[in-house]
Amino acid sequence: MQQPPIEGRVKEFLYALSRTLGSRYEKVLELYLYVKPDTVKIVELVERGGEITGVRIAVRSKRRHDVWYYTAVGYYGAKCTCEGNTLGGKICKHIVIGVITWNVVSLIKTGKEIDLSKLSWLRSSEKEV
Ligand SMILES: [Zn+2]
Repeated sequence: MQQPPIEGRVKEFLYALSRTLGSRYEKVLELYLYVKPDTVKIVELVERGGEITGVRIAVRSKRRHDVWYYTAVGYYGAKCTCEGNTLGGKICKHIVIGVITWNVVSLIKTGKEIDLSKLSWLRSSEKEV
């Protein structure tokens, strides 16, 4: 049996992510479309037992192109160097971009999506998205 193409699986994941966040699908899609080689760079992949358990990325600011935010996401939690997260403790756009990037990398490298049900921090924190 053939696997559904990666695009369809990503779309389903974005729907599930928007439901988990309580955000509109369009907002999550917009963040997904922001992920390009010149705006998002993978700094480190955290791998354990053949599974990608987290990523560290750099995300270029949308308004100030010389500014990069450093974001870490994983099953343990998430952190970002932007004000919204460091001062407000909110789930910022960069963290959501981190989750999206993590999932795509996981799909490509292991063929498996990340398990959103394990990201309890995604539901419990206040969101900027
Ligand atoms: Zn941030």
